[in-house]
Amino acid sequence: MEDGDRQHVVLFPFMAQGHINPFLALAELLRRRRPTLFVTLVSTPLNIQNIKSSSCPPSLSSIRLRSIPFSPAAHGLPPEAETTAAIPFHQIVTLLLASQSLQPAFEQLIEDITQEDGRPPLCIIADNFFAWSFHVARRFGAFHSIFFTSGAYGTAVYSSLWTHLPHRKTDSDEFPLPEFPDTIIHRSQLPKHLLMADGTDPWSDFLQRQISLVSETDAVIINTVEEVEKTGLRMLRKVLPCPVWPVGPVVSSPSSAIAGNDHILKWLDSQPPASVLYVSFGSQNTITAPQMKELAMGLEASRTRFLWVIRPPVGFDVKGEFKPEWLPEKFEERMRDEGTGVLAHGWVPQLEILSHASTGGFLSHCGWNSVLESLSRGVPIVAWPLSGDQLYNAKMMEEELGVCVEVARGNMESSRADRVVVEKVVKEVMHGGQRGKEIRRRVEEVRGLMKDAWTEGPGSSVKGLSEFF
Ligand code: UDP
Repeated sequence: MEDGDRQHVVLFPFMAQGHINPFLALAELLRRRRPTLFVTLVSTPLNIQNIKSSSCPPSLSSIRLRSIPFSPAAHGLPPEAETTAAIPFHQIVTLLLASQSLQPAFEQLIEDITQEDGRPPLCIIADNFFAWSFHVARRFGAFHSIFFTSGAYGTAVYSSLWTHLPHRKTDSDEFPLPEFPDTIIHRSQLPKHLLMADGTDPWSDFLQRQISLVSETDAVIINTVEEVEKTGLRMLRKVLPCPVWPVGPVVSSPSSAIAGNDHILKWLDSQPPASVLYVSFGSQNTITAPQMKELAMGLEASRTRFLWVIRPPVGFDVKGEFKPEWLPEKFEERMRDEGTGVLAHGWVPQLEILSHASTGGFLSHCGWNSVLESLSRGVPIVAWPLSGDQLYNAKMMEEELGVCVEVARGNMESSRADRVVVEKVVKEVMHGGQRGKEIRRRVEEVRGLMKDAWTEGPGSSVKGLSEFF
């Protein structure tokens, strides 16, 4: 990108924590590397308010936060549904579709910013769900880029599946992807909406449109590391007509100042090194109540210390109160009396937990941010992917990187983990079995590759960002 004297960049993430977090981290990164740069981050009013009141808001003097109007109610969503975390999973496609109505407001904002600054932005960096913003960039003569907050392999596989729906053309349980014949997908690795898709449903309609819009962008930057995702990047570069620059891992900074969670970090402080399994399914996924019981019994039988972030199970109000009947009888009391397990409710400081010396493993849904946060801290993963690209993140980490073991897979409603398998896998990863040792060795290697990517010299992500900017 030519610099000139225009030093203003607009960032536009989709309204989900797993998208806003890396965009905020990217904003800070851009400012650190180019202190003269002026960065504006655009989102809807509630998200901007949340960023401002969060425990680690970006340095507001260097990042301008601007909101554009959005009315969830006009799309049949509850008024607070400006983020995926506020709605049950089945409403997410409604939010995705509703968010496409932001185009006129975004265009008006760029117009306002252009008036205020006396020149249009140098570049718009948008979410892949807002690929239509290339129209706005063209109108103002700005460079347009998509920032993928998902991994290369997950993105390539997920996009290929939605584009071709190959599972509908075969009865076989396993099938290759049309563009990538070496990649074999098992039917059990299809999330619910893909299994049900016929090319005319709202998910197909939305995702197929987004995938073709992405081809219009001038460049792609992606939150991954060249040396870690060689296969995924090769796949992505095969299908995208523009340059693809990996600039990861881009993760947000730790913060312990999350109200009501002091006891978690205190408890971690008192545990032996690398002894605690952190259990979390991210900001929007959840499992069924019977599966929560199965997981609880597996954890208890493994005799492993754990810290489990409990979200209401499938079918319950996402903001509802915790109910002890979701877990085995007296489970919480037993864990508390023995001092072996802690249940956390609500939002926890994940990056700080993963950075803590007592954390030795992460039972995760494999959202891409969780993957990067875990591997960049050298924490091995027990995978329980539930939707979207998570299934391919887990596949890539197990088959290519060797940094995780899958304990279950599938969809939130139908995913089945067996307590015996949970016990076995958790013991293997946490208590130094042969496979556990090999996984830890590989995680250390990957952690090193991630660190090297950001060392001057230049590392591959330093190079990626400077080629982009
Ligand atoms: N996160 C957090 N505390 C929580 C739950 C999630 O800080 O209690 C953060 C997590 O560190 C990550 C993001 O929210 O940065 C979740 O993104 P991810 O891609 O892992 O999963 P998603 O929630 O999008 O499925």
